[in-house]
Amino acid sequence: MASIFSRIATGEIPCYKVAENDQYLAFLDINPIAKGHTLVIPKHEVDYIFDLDDKELAGLHLFAKKIAQAQKKAFPCQRIGMAVLGMEVPHAHIHLIPMQKESDMLFSNPKLSLTPEEFTETANKIREQL
Ligand code: 5GP
Repeated sequence: MASIFSRIATGEIPCYKVAENDQYLAFLDINPIAKGHTLVIPKHEVDYIFDLDDKELAGLHLFAKKIAQAQKKAFPCQRIGMAVLGMEVPHAHIHLIPMQKESDMLFSNPKLSLTPEEFTETANKIREQL
């Protein structure tokens, strides 16, 4: 059975897409801990990020860099924090999170509840900066 993120990558399950190319996809986290919280995945399904081969792991990070630069313009902040957990979804992914302070990266923080319109607007704002 394909992972939920593979099903998002094929378009079977919808997402608020930020960017994609042949190998990688960026889309908004559905339970964001900050406005602009984005996930970056390889379309190729591998559970554990450090099982990706060197080229794919490097490519994922270079793709994430472009997204982070656009996020920072779209949502002015101190830094774009980067985190890898993978405790919930067994498909390698990087969290990119606009942050003003260290505690903004805590996954135990309350999740934002955004309307579909707010998600669309958020994805558009990042996309416009790419
Ligand atoms: P992790 O595996 O890194 O511990 O957590 C998975 C992350 O993926 C969580 O932040 C969760 O909100 C997000 N997530 C889980 N399922 C979906 C989904 O179907 N769509 C989107 N956009 N995000 C998801």
